Amino acid sequence: MKRAFLLIVVALFVLLAVLLFNTFNVSAPDDTATPLPVFESGLNEADMSARLSQALQFPTLPHQPQSFAAFHDFLRDAFPLTDQNLALKKFGNSLLYHWDSGNDCAPTLLLAHQDVVPVSSPDQWQHPPFAGVVDEHFVWGRGAMDDKGSLMAILEATEALLAEGRAPTCDVWLAFGHDEEIGGNEGANRMAAWMAEQGLRFALVLDEGGMMLPGDTLGIEQPVALIGIAEKGYMTVTLQAHAEPGHSSRPPSKTAVGDLAKAITALQNSPRPAGLSEPTRKMLKQVAPYQPFAKRIVFANLWLFEPLIVKQLSGKPETNALVRTTMSPTLLRAGVKDNVLPATAEATINFRLAPGETRDTVLAYLEEQLPDSITVTPQDTFLSDPSLTSNIPSPAFNRLAGLARSLPEKPVVAPFLLIAGTDARHYQVVSDQIFRFMPVALNQDDLSRFHGHNERLSREQYPQMVRFYAGVMLAAE
Ligand SMILES: [Zn+2]
Repeated sequence: MKRAFLLIVVALFVLLAVLLFNTFNVSAPDDTATPLPVFESGLNEADMSARLSQALQFPTLPHQPQSFAAFHDFLRDAFPLTDQNLALKKFGNSLLYHWDSGNDCAPTLLLAHQDVVPVSSPDQWQHPPFAGVVDEHFVWGRGAMDDKGSLMAILEATEALLAEGRAPTCDVWLAFGHDEEIGGNEGANRMAAWMAEQGLRFALVLDEGGMMLPGDTLGIEQPVALIGIAEKGYMTVTLQAHAEPGHSSRPPSKTAVGDLAKAITALQNSPRPAGLSEPTRKMLKQVAPYQPFAKRIVFANLWLFEPLIVKQLSGKPETNALVRTTMSPTLLRAGVKDNVLPATAEATINFRLAPGETRDTVLAYLEEQLPDSITVTPQDTFLSDPSLTSNIPSPAFNRLAGLARSLPEKPVVAPFLLIAGTDARHYQVVSDQIFRFMPVALNQDDLSRFHGHNERLSREQYPQMVRFYAGVMLAAE
C-alpha cells in the first residue's frame, strides 16, 4: 500500500518535471527582423493610392474579358519601367512577368490575381464597389484586399526599384492569374505547367491568404502575422434519395425528402475526426513563448494536452475548421408541386479537406455513414486535395518572417493552415516553399469584407506593403 502510494507520488513528480522542463524549454522567441528597403526618392503614397483606385475601377469579373484587356493597357501605362525591363508572357488573360537578374540562383515567384468576385448588393456599400473612391484613410472598392491591392503593390515595388536602378540578386517572376476565384485552371494552372516545362524551380513562392491580425486571435498580446504554409482541399458531392412518386394525400412511410434529410443529419452527427495537423501544431508551438504561463504549459506539452486543445478548438466554427474536414450542406432540390411526392431529392454538400484527407477517404466515409439507397456523386469542378505543407523553418520562411517583423505593427510571426483556397496550390509543381501572406494589418471585422461589402485598403499601410514586396524581391538566401 505504502509502496503504491510512493510510486504515484514519484510518477506525479516525474510528470510535473517533464511538463515544466518542456515549458521552460519552448524555443526562445525568434525575433530576428530584416529591415524593409528604403527608397531614396520616397514612395509617393497619394500617387500610389490613385493608381490603386484606377485599378479597382476595372470590373475584372471572370466573364467580362474586355475589362481584362483594358486593365492590361492600364498596367502598361501605369508602370512604364516594368513594361520596358521585364519580359511579359500572356496565358489568355493571365500575365507572367520575368525580371532577369543575370545571376544563376533560385528565383522568387510573387503571385496575385486580377479577377474579383461579383458584388451581390451594391446598395449596401458605403461607396460604389467599382468607383475606386479614395477618402482620407482608405481606398475603397471590390478587389482592394482581394487581390488587386497585392497585385498593384507588387508592381509599385518593381517600378520603384527599377526607378532607382536596383535589381534583385536572383530572378523574380510575377504571375497574375485571371481566374483564381473560379479555380485557377486556365490561369495559375497553365502558368505553373509552363514553368515546370521550362525546368523552373523557385526558392520561394508568395501568394495571398494570411495577414496580420490582433494577438487575441491566438491568445497573445502582440499582433500576429499569420503566414499560410498549407491550405485545405475542396470537394463537392451530390447526394440523391429516391422513392416512388405519388400523390401527397397518401404518402408512404419512406419519402425521398425524408431519406435525404436523414442522410444529412447522419453526416452532421458524425463529423470527420478532429486532430492537430502539422501547420496548426507548428502555429501553437510558435506562439507558445508569448503565452501566459498556464497556457504555455499546455502549448508546450501537446503530447499530453492535444485532446484538450482539439476539444476547445472544435467548439467554434472558425477554429473547428482548423482541426477537421468540414462539411456544409449548401444546395437542396426536390419536388415540383406542393401535392406531389417527388421521385428524387438532391442535396449538394461541400467538403473542405484537412491535411491528410483525400477524395477517397471522404468517399469512404460517405459510404460508411449512408445507407445504400443514397447515391453519392462527386463533382469534378474545383476538386482539390489539401495542399502540401511547406516545410519550416526554412530560409524562405525566414525571409518572409524577418521582413514581416519589420512592419510597423511589429508582429509575432506564426505559420498557419489556410481554410480557403488560393492559386498557390497550382505551383506545387515548381516549389516546395509556398507561403500565403499579405502584409496588411486587419481586425476580425475586416475579414467579412473579403467577398463581402465595403472592401477597402488602408492608405497608411499601402506603402509598407510595397516596401515588404520590394524586400522579398531583393533578398535571396
Ligand atoms: Zn483572392
